[in-house]
Amino acid sequence: MSRIPSLEDLGDVSGKRVLVRTDFNVPMGGPDDARTITDDFRIRAALSTLEYLTIRGAHVVCASHLGRPKGSPNAKYSMVPIRARLAELAPDVELLENLRFNPGEEGNDPAFVKQLIKGIDMYVCDAFGAAHRSHASIVGPPQSLPSAAGRLLQREVEVLGDLREQPKRPFVAVLGGAKVSDKIGVIAALQQRVDALIIGGGMCFTFLAAQGYPVGDSICEKDQIETCKHLLAGPTPIHLPEDIVGLDADGMYQTFGIRLPSGSKGLDIGPGSAAAFTDIIMDARSVFWNGPMGTYEDPRFASGTKTVAQAIADTKAFTVVGGGDSAAALAQFNLDDEVDHVSTGGGASLEYLELGDLPGLAALRGAPNVR
Ligand code: ADP
Ligand code: MG
Repeated sequence: MSRIPSLEDLGDVSGKRVLVRTDFNVPMGGPDDARTITDDFRIRAALSTLEYLTIRGAHVVCASHLGRPKGSPNAKYSMVPIRARLAELAPDVELLENLRFNPGEEGNDPAFVKQLIKGIDMYVCDAFGAAHRSHASIVGPPQSLPSAAGRLLQREVEVLGDLREQPKRPFVAVLGGAKVSDKIGVIAALQQRVDALIIGGGMCFTFLAAQGYPVGDSICEKDQIETCKHLLAGPTPIHLPEDIVGLDADGMYQTFGIRLPSGSKGLDIGPGSAAAFTDIIMDARSVFWNGPMGTYEDPRFASGTKTVAQAIADTKAFTVVGGGDSAAALAQFNLDDEVDHVSTGGGASLEYLELGDLPGLAALRGAPNVR
């Protein structure tokens, strides 16, 4: 596989107009017609790439999506507040309006690609979180323009690539979140690569059901039980919770064993499970974490996620966290500085670990300056 070009591979950028596909899909608050940025981390994170280009005399035009406007202009998803913040951080850098205001973005319409690259000399992709989508702004420009990965994208590929191809062992993956069906591909792929899988969150109940345990009214995907049985029969140990915290049939907070009474609902892993998972994480040399251990948004059911997050912060292992909710949980516990890498792409990090490539990376490798 050929190399992904980096900024240096663009050569002299002085006087060139460079289109940078950024990920400015930042959290917003406030009323629909006067939205404000609640966290500008993604804008600040883009600065190393933007400065590389501007310091060398390039004229930079950024483009990003924001939210899901579904192909038509919508003031709620306007880039205006983001453009204002960007002007403070990187003066002289342009920002186009929300890419997803045009249906050609998600539809990968060649006419929209043409419109995007009109008057542009070079292309840089720094939007890892969108690199798993074959959208116009991701796969279109590298077909005709000299192209490169920006610094954020480059670091994601380095970290996730090493984790996939040459992890320090034991390599442990900690998976949670709501559904098995969302993540079945990555669970199966990781099972081939890790030394142990830890499974919590809503998805553990389909695995527990596959082992024959009653799960009450917990989230459980009956059509995935056979798949879970198959995974459990595989060679890699899969660690499941041994106790569960949730609500009983009367809606009262309870700690249960591994069998949930009928009418009860499991919403977090129990303290025994959290301690057992901690031990495994402390003994690992690489850890990948995706998906909360419970409905951490509710403080009553956040302790399993918090204990696991703390173990990931404390272990000497190389630690990588992927996933929007997992990253939000880490930040909520003030542990985001304690891990080695927090991926900016949830779906993209999982797809990269599963497949070892993404449409946006393949597009960069095929650019005219690399071919
Ligand atoms: P990420 O964004 O990190 O990839 P997911 O989106 O897959 O994670 O999963 C996060 C969601 O899973 C959270 O909204 C959380 O409330 C939910 N969840 C976790 N445990 C359970 C559970 N036991 N029952 C129902 N939902 C759960
Ligand atoms: Mg999520």
